[in-house]
Amino acid sequence: MDCLFCKIVEGVIPSSKVYEDDMMLAFKDINPQAPVHVLMIPKMHIDSLDGVNAENLPYVTHIFEKIPAIAASLGLDKGYRLISNCGYEGGQTVGHLHFHLLGGKKLGENIL
Ligand code: AMP
Ligand code: ZN
Repeated sequence: MDCLFCKIVEGVIPSSKVYEDDMMLAFKDINPQAPVHVLMIPKMHIDSLDGVNAENLPYVTHIFEKIPAIAASLGLDKGYRLISNCGYEGGQTVGHLHFHLLGGKKLGENIL
C-alpha cells in the first residue's frame, strides 16, 4: 500500500516528531495553519474516521488518552483545537486517519 503516513511511521519519509510510542506518532504538519500544528496518527493504517471499527478502536482511544499530555508538552495550556477531515467533502488529502492539533494563538470561533 502506498500510504504517505505509513511511510512516516516506518521512517522511510522523515518527520519532525513531537511524541511517539508503540501505538501512535505525533509530528509537525509540513504546512502549519497555526503556530502549533501537529498531526497525531495511529501506527495501524486506518483510512479515515469512516474506517474506525471495534478492532482498531484501541488505536484511536489511545490517541485521545494522550492528547492532554501532548498538548501540555507543546505549551497549549490556554486551549487548542482538534480536527479530523474525513473523505473528499471533508477535505481529507492524506488517506491515513489523522487528527490535527492546532493552537498557539487565539483561534477563530467559527469552524470554517
Ligand atoms: P488533511 O488535508 O486533513 O488530509 O491533512 C493532511 C495534512 O498533512 C496537511 O495539513 C498537510 O500539510 C500534511 N502533510 C502532508 N505531507 C506531510 C509530510 N510529509 N509531513 C508532515 N505533514 C504533511
Ligand atoms: Zn497508512
